[in-house]
Amino acid sequence: MGVQVGGFGTPYEWVFLDGAIVSSAEAAVSVHAHALSYGTGTFEGIRAWWNPDHEQLYLLEATAHYARLHRSAAILGLPPPRPVAELVDATVALLRHNDVRTDAYVRPLLVQAGEALPVRMHDVRTRLSIAVTPVHGDYIDSRGVRCVVSTWRRAPDVCTPNRAKVTGSYPGPALAKTEAVRQGFDEAIMLTTDGYVAEATTSNIVMRVGEEWVTPPGTDDILEGITRDQVMCLLHEQTGRSVTNRRVHRSELYTSDEILLCGTAAVVVPVVEVDGRPVGDGKPGEVTVWVNRAIREIARRDDPRHSDWTTPVHDTGDDT
Ligand code: PMP
Repeated sequence: MGVQVGGFGTPYEWVFLDGAIVSSAEAAVSVHAHALSYGTGTFEGIRAWWNPDHEQLYLLEATAHYARLHRSAAILGLPPPRPVAELVDATVALLRHNDVRTDAYVRPLLVQAGEALPVRMHDVRTRLSIAVTPVHGDYIDSRGVRCVVSTWRRAPDVCTPNRAKVTGSYPGPALAKTEAVRQGFDEAIMLTTDGYVAEATTSNIVMRVGEEWVTPPGTDDILEGITRDQVMCLLHEQTGRSVTNRRVHRSELYTSDEILLCGTAAVVVPVVEVDGRPVGDGKPGEVTVWVNRAIREIARRDDPRHSDWTTPVHDTGDDT
């Protein structure tokens, strides 16, 4: 069906670095940087969506992402980055500077860039950068993925703070992803250490059990995704019922009627199989397909609802 998958292009030349726009070469990091050895940093992933009819680029949920960056910094005890509104403005300026006129992925990164060797969160210089990469097509095949429950578990919050998007938290999900792909699956589902469903490697799980939509709670070692919030909001509007946040057993994955994965890169992806068992009738769920389309239309402002989720980037003379 001609859906392009996995399409990140070459990053754009200009990056934001501690208040200035500089070339990528100037933003190179030292091999001595604390964060490189210890993963002591936090980051975000924000999408910008190009609308060719509007000749406009829209940042999606930039405020929510930078608010989470602030929460992550607070959890890690890093000095607070510049205010959220300033970071949104800086991102708009950066996208303009690179003249981005295609779908893109924005990567804010707040790391301990100082050259201290001791492992600690205090007294190491931090650095904030924002980089942009073009996106061509889908990150994961939105026609449906086959999942396996991973042997790797989510690290519990007492080991690594899951509410913060920490750079050093990703070896576990990376191992889970590779294990799944080497076994012939598309994606891994990770459980908590005590065996409840948490999330996929870089996306949250939302599922339909009969009429009820369910998602694991923030206390089950998930990153509380911004796309998850959007999905919950749209499902509530569509069905008139709130999505239930509760613990989910592995075996419920086998009997649910629809399962979807959601995240900034993935957007919304139907799960058609878990551990070799079809989800529902083994085809993408009807509501899943609807919510995927709805978010994409809102992101490009082809759907006027929730225009407060998007920020226009280019100066077209008539945008607010
Ligand atoms: N969980 C993890 C571990 C992630 O890395 C992501 C991607 N940021 C998500 C969930 C989904 O979060 P969001 O919708 O905010 O991108």
